[in-house]
Amino acid sequence: MNELPSAIAGPVRRVVPLVPIEAAANQNDGRLYAAHQKIYPRRIEGIFSNWRWALVFATQLVFYGLPWLQWNGRQAVLFELAERRFYILGLVLYPQDLIYLTGLLVISALSLFLFTAVAGRLWCGYACPQTVYSEIFLWIEEKIEGPRTARMRLDAGSFTLEKLVKKWFKHLVWIGLAMWTGYTFVGFFTPIRELGTDFLRTQMGSWEVFWVFFYGFATYGNAGFMREQVCKYMCPYARFQSAMFDRDTLIVSYDAGRGEPRGVHTRKDDAKALGLGDCIDCSLCVQVCPTGIDIRNGLQYECIGCGLCVDACDTVMDRMQLSRGLIRYATQNGIDGGWNARQVFRRVFRPRVLVYGALLVTLATVLLASLVVRAPLKVDVVRDRATLTRVVEGGQVENVYRLQLMNATERVQHYRIETHGLAGLHVAQDGEGRASADVEVAAAQARWVVLRVRAPRGTAAAGSHPVFFDIAAADGSARLSEKATFIVPL
Ligand code: SF4
Ligand code: SF4
Repeated sequence: MNELPSAIAGPVRRVVPLVPIEAAANQNDGRLYAAHQKIYPRRIEGIFSNWRWALVFATQLVFYGLPWLQWNGRQAVLFELAERRFYILGLVLYPQDLIYLTGLLVISALSLFLFTAVAGRLWCGYACPQTVYSEIFLWIEEKIEGPRTARMRLDAGSFTLEKLVKKWFKHLVWIGLAMWTGYTFVGFFTPIRELGTDFLRTQMGSWEVFWVFFYGFATYGNAGFMREQVCKYMCPYARFQSAMFDRDTLIVSYDAGRGEPRGVHTRKDDAKALGLGDCIDCSLCVQVCPTGIDIRNGLQYECIGCGLCVDACDTVMDRMQLSRGLIRYATQNGIDGGWNARQVFRRVFRPRVLVYGALLVTLATVLLASLVVRAPLKVDVVRDRATLTRVVEGGQVENVYRLQLMNATERVQHYRIETHGLAGLHVAQDGEGRASADVEVAAAQARWVVLRVRAPRGTAAAGSHPVFFDIAAADGSARLSEKATFIVPL
């Protein structure tokens, strides 16, 4: 069990709030703005704390582990910017597949709307990288500098060798973790196994090295120093989330009807006789809060919905032998109407939730279906503007085209390219007139080919004419037709 205020660690008695640092944060000594006061969150155990840690492990396992996963001899998930190719397990995507990324972003936004409407800031409290890294950095700080009171004493105390060693060691571990985070992040955009060699060869100046340091120091700064200030002042989501809330959204709420009037009292006291509610004013809910707010003042935009104050208050209620839930996840309607869990649950399926849910399911189905039926071949056709349309031997009109064939399979592919659209239109390769051209493209690679296409003069009037390139894979896995323009000179 981690440290608890003496009031609830032993017999329940009057609690003197430990150091009133949160209160000090609101005092600005006559200045126009309040200086930032460092928050020292107290560690607490409980259901929601366990959920937070489970999410920390799950997200970090995926983040740090995924770039090292191999698939068919290559990195399983790689957004290879230099080659303009994206690998997601068995999928090979090209910039032309941007529509899938757009679809994914729309689905993510809709999911956020849906989860926010149902359960408030679930994302912020449990899975947002800012929350997750702040939690990890705080854990390191606690392991090195000690629990809340020890950390506060250390910071308030004079400079000693012990303080120097602890601070130095903490920052060393923080920087190490932050740099590894930066390295991993860049490893999603460039092959991670080669990135290490780049570093060893100190290819300083490459964009990869810049971004490793940039992302690393952003992590160090945001999780080590800025912490709750990112949520309070920098994150736009905190500002517009209230527009997605309604009276049936689950939020962390203090049951004022049950807790007030708050006042210090012990387990043996008769609170009713003293005219007091269930809140013993121990301030534990404030001390565990990573954003340093007092949820008893009502819903505040600083609240990230992490539920740690719920765990804290439940611990106090257990010690007081009172029922849990003085602070709990509840809806405004539920609190006002004294609803039980079943009544609250019934209101989950309300119109806005159903609309978000239906849109989400439809979009996800469409995206999945289009991925399944998508042709594993992309083709770009551009008429070579550097080469003028000309009349060649035999009175043939020749146009030159550049075709980019993008093989989105993990096998070597042979493609046959045919043209049609004008009488006598054909491909002229290597000086020979052929009806078609055959091209080999390596597995998951793109290849440019230059094609000279000819048509007998006189088959079409001067001007531009639509023609078509039909490209078919020899194994029958893909067949595409791309439109182009054929110019006939005067
Ligand atoms: S709400 Fe709970 S944790 Fe907070 S001060 Fe009251 S009794 Fe303590
Ligand atoms: S008030 Fe409670 S739920 Fe909100 S941020 Fe603080 S500890 Fe988390």
